[in-house]
Amino acid sequence: MVVGSGPGGLQTSYDLQRLGIEHAVISADDSPGGMFRRFPIFERLISWTKPEAPAERGTRDYELYDHNSLIADEKEAQACCAGLMDRSYDVPSRAEMEDGLLKYVERTALSVRYGVHWTGTRREEDGLVLETSDGEYRCRAAVFALGVTTPWRAPIPGLEDASHYVDVRSPAAYGDRRVFIVGKRNSAFEIANGILPWARQIVLASPRPIKTEALGHSALRTRYMQPYDEHVRGGFGTSVLDAAVERVERSADGYRVTVHPTDWPGTLRFDVDEVIAATGFQTPLGDLPRLGVATVADGRIPAQTPFWESVSVPGVYFAGNATQGSAGLRKQGLASNNSSVNGFRYNARVLVRHLAEKHFGIAPPRPIVEEDALVPLLLRELDRAPELWIQKGYLCRIVNRAQDGLRDDGILPLQIFVDEPGPDAVAVAIEMAADGTIYPSVYMRLRNDLQEYPLESHPLHDYESDIYRDLVSRLVRPLLPSN
Ligand SMILES: Cc1cc2nc3c(=O)[nH]c(=O)nc-3n(C[C@H](O)[C@H](O)[C@H](O)COP(=O)(O)OP(=O)(O)OC[C@H]3O[C@@H](n4cnc5c(N)ncnc54)[C@H](O)[C@@H]3O)c2cc1C
Repeated sequence: MVVGSGPGGLQTSYDLQRLGIEHAVISADDSPGGMFRRFPIFERLISWTKPEAPAERGTRDYELYDHNSLIADEKEAQACCAGLMDRSYDVPSRAEMEDGLLKYVERTALSVRYGVHWTGTRREEDGLVLETSDGEYRCRAAVFALGVTTPWRAPIPGLEDASHYVDVRSPAAYGDRRVFIVGKRNSAFEIANGILPWARQIVLASPRPIKTEALGHSALRTRYMQPYDEHVRGGFGTSVLDAAVERVERSADGYRVTVHPTDWPGTLRFDVDEVIAATGFQTPLGDLPRLGVATVADGRIPAQTPFWESVSVPGVYFAGNATQGSAGLRKQGLASNNSSVNGFRYNARVLVRHLAEKHFGIAPPRPIVEEDALVPLLLRELDRAPELWIQKGYLCRIVNRAQDGLRDDGILPLQIFVDEPGPDAVAVAIEMAADGTIYPSVYMRLRNDLQEYPLESHPLHDYESDIYRDLVSRLVRPLLPSN
């Protein structure tokens, strides 16, 4: 069973269909697209797609340039979003994104039961039963692709009286208004950016500072940084504060907000017309916590294994944005792209491979790799595998040594390779150091002893050159059957 027809549910269904695994997809919506049928509120995405790129559309290489389309084997179902963009920006509009997902469903002939609400869950001996508005569905495993779009408010006294991101109106409605936005992540900056031409005063506040030097590597997108630019240049019609919000109080003509800056020893009070909580979202988990599903992030996100299974309830899996509940190794602090389409489209493919093997006895193809093809394969992956480049330090490419030679084990979570025992093998990954340096890594597992070899970074990330060929050849030598 798959619940949800946003990009996470659709990608999962496509990959199940591709392996011939019988399943049903139900969705409370009446058309595909999930969150993108309504959000982002100001109608432009943050993730980019380049309609023209050095790689041809419809190829795996092109996925590096298209962070919004779902993936498929059939050329016509690849890059659905790219062909629809009007190119006013390098990011699609919300409508183009929704349309791209609709095209994907049409071109892959996915079948979704729309208008069906999942209402309850129970465990029976041979699996799970999902109670829905369309009756009961029995399954061996359920993949919940529920999104992370239910409004969540930080526990700040009085914030419950404020509006939330989801209530934001058209920019003109904030004309000549004083607006206080609680939060400094993408949704907060999106609102601030949208109302910049209208509002009289805008204040954004949250305790943690924005690390501008790390912007290119953080989840916060430079696309929304114009309010920060106004803050830096002065005048203070727009302020971006590092401050803990103590309380929000209703006043005769609006709100009074009391804050304590984290970098200044005083108290500030703001009298404003509007307060907007941009403090985030949660997964609509329904009765899953009652079934025993453990959560992280103040109960907002389900806690997951590296294969996106609930850590506490076997057979309950997650796809889409909610896969951020599987943190991975977080080496050097780098987070994965599990919360955006570009990252979770690959998680879904890996999840389905895992489900197929574990619950349906379908082993993935593990083709033979000839000895002299091993190093070129690994270097090619380090050079431009979209899975490794987009999911840095999170997904890796593995080649095992089996009885009959070397076998390509495909793409898997790096955490699995590092933490689980297995046959002698090599894995390669792209990683990022704390200072932002992007570099390739080789991991060797020999008799379950794991060694990690970080390689030098190349300015153009050209990892197919002779210097890397020599280095990797030396590292993998103990794995070669002829050795
Ligand atoms: C403001 C905002 C902006 C974002 N911008 C981007 C962006 O630019 N690029 C990007 O890649 N990501 C962006 N994201 C992240 C975004 O949430 C995901 O990329 C994407 O929408 C997640 O897909 P999903 O399939 O996990 O969930 P969703 O798209 O949220 O879909 C959830 C599905 O679950 C169904 N569902 C939920 N509960 C039930 C139930 N009880 N019964 C039946 N069906 C149910 C819903 O009907 C829906 O079909 C943004 C998120 C937010 C909040």
